[in-house]
Amino acid sequence: LNRQLAEFGTTIFAEMSALAVSTGSINLGQGFPDTDGPEEIREAAVRALREGRGNQYPPGPGIPELRTAIAAHQQRRYGLSYDPDTEVLVTAGATEAIAASLLALLESGDEVVALEPYYDSYAASIALAGGRRVPVTLRPHDGSFRLDLDELRAAVTARTRLLLINTPHNPTGTVLTRAELAAIAELAVERDLLVVTDEVYEHLVFDDAEHLPLASFPGMRERTVTIGSAGKTFSFTGWKVGWVTATPELVTAVRSVKQFLTYVSSGPFQYAVAEALALPDSYFEEFRRSMLARRDILAEGLTAAGFQVFRPAGTYFITTDIRPLGEKDGFAFCRALPERAGVVAIPNAVFYDDREAGAPFVRFAFCKRKDVLQAATERLIKLR
Ligand code: PMP
Ligand code: GLN
Repeated sequence: LNRQLAEFGTTIFAEMSALAVSTGSINLGQGFPDTDGPEEIREAAVRALREGRGNQYPPGPGIPELRTAIAAHQQRRYGLSYDPDTEVLVTAGATEAIAASLLALLESGDEVVALEPYYDSYAASIALAGGRRVPVTLRPHDGSFRLDLDELRAAVTARTRLLLINTPHNPTGTVLTRAELAAIAELAVERDLLVVTDEVYEHLVFDDAEHLPLASFPGMRERTVTIGSAGKTFSFTGWKVGWVTATPELVTAVRSVKQFLTYVSSGPFQYAVAEALALPDSYFEEFRRSMLARRDILAEGLTAAGFQVFRPAGTYFITTDIRPLGEKDGFAFCRALPERAGVVAIPNAVFYDDREAGAPFVRFAFCKRKDVLQAATERLIKLR
């Protein structure tokens, strides 16, 4: 293995999902829904396969139908206008969008300021690109993890090339506020930075939180690469359809890298996702509400089991603090949890450079059927 990648072994998601299978545990680790997305969208994929649409290499940037649907979605939801021909790129999930963006935009030694805890592929993709990650840690404050804007400013140096943002944020469930995003935007403009923003949980925001795309802030449209994914929004994580929206220059750069990673993304699913993006607002609202109900079931259950719960304003993850249970090492806790309780969770420490800072936090996914969440909480309550 390339020495830059020595620290990246098997991802925690693969490790923990394997543990769930081998121990027969309820898997609240890896974030994938246990109910597939809409039947009509599955049918659309089958129809495309049968009718021979997308069975051979589709166009490199993605099929026109999907690029048009992505642009229409950004317009309809956020009033952001992107040209489907030059400003949209279809990728093999958000994971490829992240990797291709960083490989396209970073040169060796460039610094990337990223929110910590960070989604695991960020660190690996920055390393693949020869960049250096500079984490800015979100810290618990009044029941949620918040960004310290002074720390963010202080993290930017003459070598900083880009800011890597994620909102709604995995694993903390934080949704950046208008004021926080405005400050990030001001900083990016002032220091002339590019921004890559991972907004795959854009449709999963709860209570009075609101998802605001960074690209909609003044001065940001021209410097922001926005990433989305059908895996999260339509509950088809196995389809691996994601996308990038940005200026023609940025999209061209990301596309040149994508050509040599996957060349194109799988065809028939693109036709189906194009239909999914055109679903009425009621689909998105219903999806959001159903996840909100699940959040509340799991949050109550974890609270009853003695965890300190950071009730998420977005995503389908709950971060907890295990110290009220007399525990302090999330890794040890998660490795023992299948034996102790028959449940699998993710230690947040894997998302930190500063593993000490992340040690007491453990993440549970709630994109599962209600009976499964209930069964998991009944098991966890026995830990007390
Ligand atoms: N970004 C974040 C924040 C995620 O949680 C995930 C996991 N789904 C991804 C990107 C990867 O998305 P995809 O499955 O579309 O590659
Ligand atoms: N995004 C998912 C999570 O955070 C996992 C995706 C993966 O396994 N790479 O759980």
